[in-house]
Amino acid sequence: NLHTTGAITITGVSKSFGKHKALDNVSLALAPGSVTVILGPSGSGKSTLLRTINHLERVDEGFIQIDGEYIGYQRRGDKLYELKERAILRQRINVGYVFQNFNLFPHLTVLENLIEAPVAHRQLTRRAAIDRAGELLDVVGLRHKADAWPRHLSGGQQQRIAIARALMLNPRVMLFDEPTSALDPELVGEVLDVIKKLARSGTTLVVVTHEVGFAREVADNVVFMVDGRIVEQGSGSQVLNQPRHERTKRFL
Ligand code: ADP
Ligand code: MG
Repeated sequence: NLHTTGAITITGVSKSFGKHKALDNVSLALAPGSVTVILGPSGSGKSTLLRTINHLERVDEGFIQIDGEYIGYQRRGDKLYELKERAILRQRINVGYVFQNFNLFPHLTVLENLIEAPVAHRQLTRRAAIDRAGELLDVVGLRHKADAWPRHLSGGQQQRIAIARALMLNPRVMLFDEPTSALDPELVGEVLDVIKKLARSGTTLVVVTHEVGFAREVADNVVFMVDGRIVEQGSGSQVLNQPRHERTKRFL
C-alpha cells in the first residue's frame, strides 16, 4: 500500500437531532494511512461523527470528502446535489465499519459471513470472495474457524471476524466504533492487535475507543470531543501527555 488514498476531510459539519446539536461545526483533516483516535465522554457525538463519514447520517451543514470525493453529494458548478442510493452504496465500498456488537449473521458460518454481501451485491465472484476471505482469515488468525458458527466463537473472535468482513472490499478507510467495549477484558488485546496490524498496512483508521494505551501506542492524531465539538486535537503525545483542555485532563 502506497499510502496515497484514504484522505478524509471534514469541513464545518453540524448535525442536530431535534433541538439537540449532536455535532457542532466539526472540522478535521486526516492524512492517507493515518490513525486517528477519538476520545470523549458519552453523548459527545463520536458515533454520530463516524456515521456521517459513511453517510449513514445525513449532515445538516458542511461536507465530508474522501480523497476529494463528496460523501453523499456531487458537486455541479458551485452547488452540491445529493446522490442517489445506488451511488451512495458505491461510495460505501471505500469505507469499512466495525461496531461494538460485531453483528455477525448467526445463521451463517464464518466464511459465509465474509462472502455473503460481496457476492449478493455482485461486487466479487464467489471464487474471488472465497479467496479474499481466506487471506483475511489469515490476517485475523482465524482461518481454522472458517466453517464454525458465530455462537461457538468468543467475543474477541467474533469481533476479529467482523473486522475481516469489513475488509472484504479492500476499503481505503476503516471506522471502528468502540470495537472492544462489549468484550471481556481478557479478550480486548487480541482485537486491538488486529487493529494495530491494520494501522501498519496503510489503511486510514478512525477509532472511537476508551483504550488510552492503544491511543498512545498507535495514534497519529488524537481528537477529544465534548458536546458535539472538537475541544482538543493533536499528536498522541500532545493530547495524552499534555492535555490543554480541562475536560480532557479530567477524562484521562
Ligand atoms: P457518543 O457516541 O459520543 O456517545 P452519539 O454520537 O451517540 O455520542 O450521540 C450524541 C448525541 O446525539 C447524544 O445526545 C445522543 O442522545 C444524540 N443522538 C444520537 N443519535 C441520535 C438519534 N438517532 N436520534 C436522536 N438523538 C440522537
Ligand atoms: Mg457512541
